[in-house]
Amino acid sequence: MNALKKEVEQKVEAAATQSTAPTADSAIDISLPGIRRPIGAEHPIIRTQNEIISVFRNLGYSVAEGPVIETDYYNFEALNFPPNHPARDTQDTLFLANQDAKAPRERLLLRTHTSPVQIRTMEKLAPPLRILVPGKVHRNDPPDASHSPMFHQVEGLAVDTNITFGDLKGTLDHAMKALFGSSVKTGFRPSFFPFTEPSAEMFVSCFICGGSGKRGEDNAPCRPCKQTGWIEILGCGMVDPNVFESVKQNGYDPEKISGFAFGMGVDRIAMLKYGLDDLQLFFQGDVRFLEQFG
Ligand SMILES: [Zn+2]
Repeated sequence: MNALKKEVEQKVEAAATQSTAPTADSAIDISLPGIRRPIGAEHPIIRTQNEIISVFRNLGYSVAEGPVIETDYYNFEALNFPPNHPARDTQDTLFLANQDAKAPRERLLLRTHTSPVQIRTMEKLAPPLRILVPGKVHRNDPPDASHSPMFHQVEGLAVDTNITFGDLKGTLDHAMKALFGSSVKTGFRPSFFPFTEPSAEMFVSCFICGGSGKRGEDNAPCRPCKQTGWIEILGCGMVDPNVFESVKQNGYDPEKISGFAFGMGVDRIAMLKYGLDDLQLFFQGDVRFLEQFG
């Protein structure tokens, strides 16, 4: 036992002297540069989102954010989707599990659009209001080149006395020219959303082919605009008076005020801007893809 004890003690001593007194070979050369960490790059979706935000910030909009896990009330009911409204089906909502004991309006879901933040902000702030709402949204879509169960929206809301459809057109026309270049033209087509009336889809002339539908010297068909010369870029409309009803007590009397709202898909705009044909590239975390934006 004593022999063993001696051996262990010697080994411990040897190890201790080695670590405290390095030899010339193992010494740290303090003149060498340290380990550099790569700085990284802004993700193309965040970059696009920030570009959109800065355009509207210059128009006096402020940024509002809200929870990604929402109640049925904020995601649907307050936005004029009554129970059993067919529009609820079209959104293919992802609900949280085990909530059968709760009242339907309190059931939790992953928000399908950023519009719940309209209601949450109007509950807190009296009109006039100009907000921009960026954020993640979820829908039950299997991932492919143009779909993802998680994607990004930027939504806008302006409320004041005497806001008209002319204000909506002027604001969005200015914003599209600021985002895609002063030569783009804009157009509107009637549409339907439960929370706006009237509603419209907005188109911009294709900034890739200049609106001709053809590209390059050999007149190849322009894919992003499907050779039409126009790209559908966002949905918009005048806020439905029923939406104001749910926040009426905070100064939003639909008899006295009006407003417009719009929403766009950040991922799709980023794809158009950077000429990508596969949405999944944004979410795979492949550094070889992402470092190109550094
Ligand atoms: Zn085109």
